[in-house]
Amino acid sequence: MRILVVEDEAELAGLVRDHLVKMSFAVDVAASVDEAEASLSTCRYDAIALDLGLPDGDGLGLVRRLRGRGDGTPVLAATARDQVTDRIHGLDLGLDDYLVKPYDLRELTARLRALLRRPGKALGAVQTAGNVVLDTVRATVEIGGRPVLMARRQLALLETLMRSAGRVVSRSAIDDSLYGIDDLVESNALDANVSRLRRVLAESGASLTIHTVRGVGYMLAEGKPA
Ligand code: CA
Repeated sequence: MRILVVEDEAELAGLVRDHLVKMSFAVDVAASVDEAEASLSTCRYDAIALDLGLPDGDGLGLVRRLRGRGDGTPVLAATARDQVTDRIHGLDLGLDDYLVKPYDLRELTARLRALLRRPGKALGAVQTAGNVVLDTVRATVEIGGRPVLMARRQLALLETLMRSAGRVVSRSAIDDSLYGIDDLVESNALDANVSRLRRVLAESGASLTIHTVRGVGYMLAEGKPA
């Protein structure tokens, strides 16, 4: 799941980014309306955490333009403005939820997760495929009823593949969901990550296999490796 964090206070932006990365999200940070528009024009995000008071304009203007071009990406606004009229105005414009600053990073994560679960996004908190159960909120995996420890990147990769189980996911879509723009990604990182996840799944007795679809991407499907 890839999140765009729009926040002009560098220190806060860093804290939010680090926290969300720890929670297995891929994160890009934009410090202004312009930077946010630039990121949105090159990437697809699963949600946006948006500060409303930005140096070059109002975050609400960004939301208005998003919705105006039919983009329904969930937006969680963080703002110091806690007046009721501002909230109603923002929700009318197409904001999905509000957080009032200062907020708890755990609440930010919980609200983002809630937005990602909304119908239309069809993203349950718990993903099940075969004998694999992934709890995306607690960041835990059970295979055949037994807990299995996984590295953060592997959890994120598994989540991306499970959300599209039975369908081919392109390499670029996987990269987009795993890495932020600023992450240094080696060209073979995805293959290495897939190999590791394959090994963990096999060693844990998973009834799922990651198939390579040459030149396209990967697909998670029921069945043991050939
Ligand atoms: Ca601000």
